[in-house]
Amino acid sequence: MAAIPIRTCIGCRSRFPKKDLLRFVRDAAGNLQTDPTGKLPGRGAYVCQSQACINVTFKSQKINGHLRSNLSQRAIDSFKQELLNLVSHRNVEEV
Ligand SMILES: [Zn+2]
Repeated sequence: MAAIPIRTCIGCRSRFPKKDLLRFVRDAAGNLQTDPTGKLPGRGAYVCQSQACINVTFKSQKINGHLRSNLSQRAIDSFKQELLNLVSHRNVEEV
């Protein structure tokens, strides 16, 4: 029986089973990407599948600090929107 991997949401700083979090990475080209398989190379972070945590997480200072990147607020905002869409669709499906 393998232990359940636990990761920290960088929005609320709480720890959750890895499978309950969204993983995203900054790839070699410097773009943000979601990583549903958890296998993409690059520097990654985790966030809860909640609008509140996504909104807190995707502020340039916070995200650039975590990913050691220098992304523009515009790039961050567009990725944030992508995640928000993902989360809202998921919530709809679960209802
Ligand atoms: Zn969270």
